[in-house]
Amino acid sequence: MLRRLTYATLLVAGFAAGPAWAASDAELIARARVIQDKVISIDTHVDIPANFSTDAYDMMKPGPRGQLVHLPTMISGGLDAPFLIVYVGQGERNTAGYARALADAFGKFAAIHKLAEQLYPDKIGLALTAADVRRIHASGRKVVLIGVENGYPIGKDLRLLDQFYDYGARYFGLTHNGHNDLGDSAQPDQRNKEPAAEWKGISPLGKQVVARLNALGIMVDVSHSSEKATMDMIAASTAPVIASHSAAKGVNDHARNLSDAGLEGIKRTGGVVQVVAFDPYLRPVLAEKTAAIAALGKEMGTDQPGAFGKLTPAQVAAFDARMAEIHKQWPRAGVKDLVDHIDYVVKKIGIDYVGISSDFNGGGGIDGWSNAGKTFNVTVELVRRGYSEEQIGKIWGGNLLRVMEQTERHAADLKSGKK
Ligand SMILES: [Zn+2]
Repeated sequence: MLRRLTYATLLVAGFAAGPAWAASDAELIARARVIQDKVISIDTHVDIPANFSTDAYDMMKPGPRGQLVHLPTMISGGLDAPFLIVYVGQGERNTAGYARALADAFGKFAAIHKLAEQLYPDKIGLALTAADVRRIHASGRKVVLIGVENGYPIGKDLRLLDQFYDYGARYFGLTHNGHNDLGDSAQPDQRNKEPAAEWKGISPLGKQVVARLNALGIMVDVSHSSEKATMDMIAASTAPVIASHSAAKGVNDHARNLSDAGLEGIKRTGGVVQVVAFDPYLRPVLAEKTAAIAALGKEMGTDQPGAFGKLTPAQVAAFDARMAEIHKQWPRAGVKDLVDHIDYVVKKIGIDYVGISSDFNGGGGIDGWSNAGKTFNVTVELVRRGYSEEQIGKIWGGNLLRVMEQTERHAADLKSGKK
């Protein structure tokens, strides 16, 4: 209550300030506080570390790596509802590879359920619907949702999608780095000298996956897919399509970003583009910085797949300290760069089709939004750019909830034979 009273006092000061361009920083911050307190802020991409399901990890304690999002900083920064990610890196496309990947995915689902249902049920609720998000948020708890990054763990077995739905998956990205059985990646596996395209878009199986996702009520996610695969998913899906963590090629021409055609395609489906706080996607990284990061990876062996999981805590701390030095020499993109991409998407396709994601614990995080505790800085910048409370509500989660609801309704209609 005290917090609300403080905000109310600040609200008066904020409104008295006039247009955003004339407001002082203190007035902007005051206005942003009022807005942050009212919106449900959803971050559609937060990875979970390898030790997430072990005693070594504690959602209550911040840490240098893998713990950029934890409960106390979510509360202090104003982050309400992260999608936690069931991610499995692309591996061998054979029975043994699929089995390993599936076991890995199931372990991650279980860890997220454990977090919400056993460890902190009084503080966190797992949402399976948009209505759940609103209900859990209204109860004063934080919300978690589940997204799947990389369709590799299902192998060629479509029935596993039903199981993923039952375990709580509410979005599903077909690919990650490297092509797979479902479609082409935006970033072919260079180590294995993959060609630019294997399927020239999504595969026939990938098309069946999209249909099954539509029928189940799982949002189709194009992030990490190639330009052509993205357009294929947009064409194949009968429900809204999302980009869970991508930015705009029109601002920074990176393979992981969406072209204007991709942005417009997502709008046509009624979907949403969740602009991601990922340094190299937001703005070009100097070749010297890329070389310095590559050299560090080689030196510490972290350039090999799965290497991070094998490092000791001391080695991880040493790596992070070295990375911090690199970022000091060549600063990362910042909140202004993130909002430049948001502005661009709004200008291209409108305020109803844009949202925000961090990719924390997966390489994401920028100057000013380096962990969940700094989430409020994004809201301040949105206010500074002149977005209204209603618009910021849409950007921070309203649009994503609309897409979730449409996806749920569409699946119900398909089931009842209405469509
Ligand atoms: Zn990713």
